[in-house]
Amino acid sequence: MRRVSVFGSTGSVGESTLDLLARRTDCQVVVLTGGRNVARLAEQARAYRAELAVTAHDACLPELRAALAGTGIEVAAGSAALVEAGARPADWVMSAIVGAAGLAPGFAALAQGGVLALANKESLVTAGALLKAEAARHGATILPVDSEHSAVFQALVGEDIAAVEKVTLTASGGGLRDWPVDQLARATPADAGRHPNWAMGQRITIDSASMFNKAMEVIEAREFFGLTPDKIDVLIHPQSLVHALVGFTDGAVMAHLGAPDMRHAIGYALNWPARAPLPVARLDLAQAGRLDFHPPDPARYPALGLAWQVMETGGTAGAVFNAAKEAALDAFIDGRIGFLDMAWLVAETLETFARNNDISREPASLSEVLETDQEARSRAAALARGLPRPGAA
Ligand code: NAD
Ligand code: MG
Repeated sequence: MRRVSVFGSTGSVGESTLDLLARRTDCQVVVLTGGRNVARLAEQARAYRAELAVTAHDACLPELRAALAGTGIEVAAGSAALVEAGARPADWVMSAIVGAAGLAPGFAALAQGGVLALANKESLVTAGALLKAEAARHGATILPVDSEHSAVFQALVGEDIAAVEKVTLTASGGGLRDWPVDQLARATPADAGRHPNWAMGQRITIDSASMFNKAMEVIEAREFFGLTPDKIDVLIHPQSLVHALVGFTDGAVMAHLGAPDMRHAIGYALNWPARAPLPVARLDLAQAGRLDFHPPDPARYPALGLAWQVMETGGTAGAVFNAAKEAALDAFIDGRIGFLDMAWLVAETLETFARNNDISREPASLSEVLETDQEARSRAAALARGLPRPGAA
């Protein structure tokens, strides 16, 4: 029996992971974790006979304990419990908590030397070098679950990374892609929270509309594949059928195509290094008819270019970028700042850090990354308080 844990099991990626696990008989579920959705977490823990269920919130522990009373399933709560759960023996661990909160549990899981299936893109963006060193130290394998990175990973099977000339990540353009640029400042969380092609959590869906998500993925690709920033680019591809393209020095381009369903990338990581049948829709190109591509307009997506700034700076710039982005997203979701204010806020936070801190120095430890995260978060939140509320005269 393969021991499998799912961090963030109540989220969009977590549910898709459990959907695949339900179809297998060779996996024993060890840890499941969630946030405030305790009822769903308890339901999952019962259905999958988990060993341990963890909620991120201390206040939710009594409810979780009551919901699982008499089942023999252990319960725990809080961020320290999540890290402890990461250290619980498992062969395959899905990291699908959203945000920087997913970093420490995934990091703890690496010490077991198994597979870390990484959906949490914040991990590589904030602590890429530390994570890779930890994996190497313990002989652990990090597999990409972000669809674009899974696509690149698959296109690279049997290839020499030195022969790669260009990696192109595709982007749908998000829920506001057809809005006039001069209207974007007025977009609400509900407007930005609708995705044309993918069903995902609220935060990543809004990040798709702003392209903060793609900026994160560009940095993630650099970390994952060890590419120089000039070898990565982004194309808008409204159909979301081509997930990434890899161009080689001999002029060949390998594209990865498939229906937009996260269960493909999750399933690939679950079956790796083999392939096995997956319950995803088959691509029908005759029905799709056409595939469109165009470069992203920097005026529409000011967040995207920040990725190259972060990669050039290196050090803790990724941690500052992500924390500022999370704080900006919180403020936007709460209706405290406008849609375009998010990119301004993150750029401004990066700039104040570059002025006052040694931002390009590599972090020596995870706690240094987490300290930077906290500092950048509070600076960005302070900057947000200085901005006018959307709709205010
Ligand atoms: P989601 O919002 O649907 O679910 C997030 C999960 O994390 C839930 O289980 C939630 O309870 C838990 N969580 C939230 N805040 C937490 C905290 N502070 N501490 C501990 N747990 C917490 O998110 P999602 O869309 O499933 O995305 C998960 C991760 O995967 C993100 O990093 C996202 O960028 C990445 N990702 C998602 C998709 C997708 O299709 N949804 C695709 C690629 C990458
Ligand atoms: Mg993606």
